[in-house]
Amino acid sequence: MEGRRMAATLALGIDVGGTRIAFGLVGPDGSTRAVEVHALIGRGDAVVDQLVAVARTRLALHDVTHVGVAVPGPVDATAGLVLSALTLGWRELPLADRLRTALGRDVLLSNDGHAAAWAEHRFGAGRGRDTVLVSVGTGIGGGAVLAGRVVEGHRALGGGWGHLPLVAGGRACTCGAAGCWEQYASGTALITEARRSWNARTTCGEQVLAAAENGDRRAAEVVTTVSGHLAHGLTILGACLGPHEIVLGGELGCDPRLARHVRHALADRGTHPTRTAVTTTPAELGTRAGLVGAADLARA
Ligand SMILES: [Zn+2]
Repeated sequence: MEGRRMAATLALGIDVGGTRIAFGLVGPDGSTRAVEVHALIGRGDAVVDQLVAVARTRLALHDVTHVGVAVPGPVDATAGLVLSALTLGWRELPLADRLRTALGRDVLLSNDGHAAAWAEHRFGAGRGRDTVLVSVGTGIGGGAVLAGRVVEGHRALGGGWGHLPLVAGGRACTCGAAGCWEQYASGTALITEARRSWNARTTCGEQVLAAAENGDRRAAEVVTTVSGHLAHGLTILGACLGPHEIVLGGELGCDPRLARHVRHALADRGTHPTRTAVTTTPAELGTRAGLVGAADLARA
């Protein structure tokens, strides 16, 4: 990155999820050391206390100048505010100031999807070019890095692909709207479709993928349906943003079984004569992407 100050020292990356927090030291080349994952304890201030306690143990052992924190919700990085992270009980929380005071280091907050997209752009599947990351897990998240900058959007809501209104008057979404992409093309969607198809009791999208792989016809139909919806949204992103290719991340997005179905669904959709076909590539940084991106952005 032009004009970038490449600190020789490590940065501490922290990725706060809905159920766990990952900590890791990140070098200027994106390499990670001493990655630890802790189960989340409590909500609200208890999470802040946990962040401080674990981060202090890391900082006592290593020469770290910057701390980057990825948060599952929109942030105002300039003001150091978490605007909302409902699963954590955080709203308008001045997290950067609180951590800066407690840790004595520069702290930068990032949305987790933006941080992961930045990590893939800098060190992973989107290295050296515009990067559109679609992370598929329970829902759909991600982010975009265009012309070397994270697309933040108003209130850091850029990259909220999961809430593309894909189906008019469709299924109710957790965001309060209806017909959002993630209700049709995520782990949640695999479960929903399996329950509709054969009253499946599964609570895990991966189990549906496994059943399809083992020759279960109904499961295969569900995977085909969900992959078709995923491909539909990907073609919309391709038309809007024109990326070289779209990086598929997240637990399910990186699953080669689902990726294969998505490639077929994209091929079936054909191509617009004046546009390049949308192609996908698997994310390379896996579950480390959030903490790597948060740390690297903090050091930039
Ligand atoms: Zn939604």
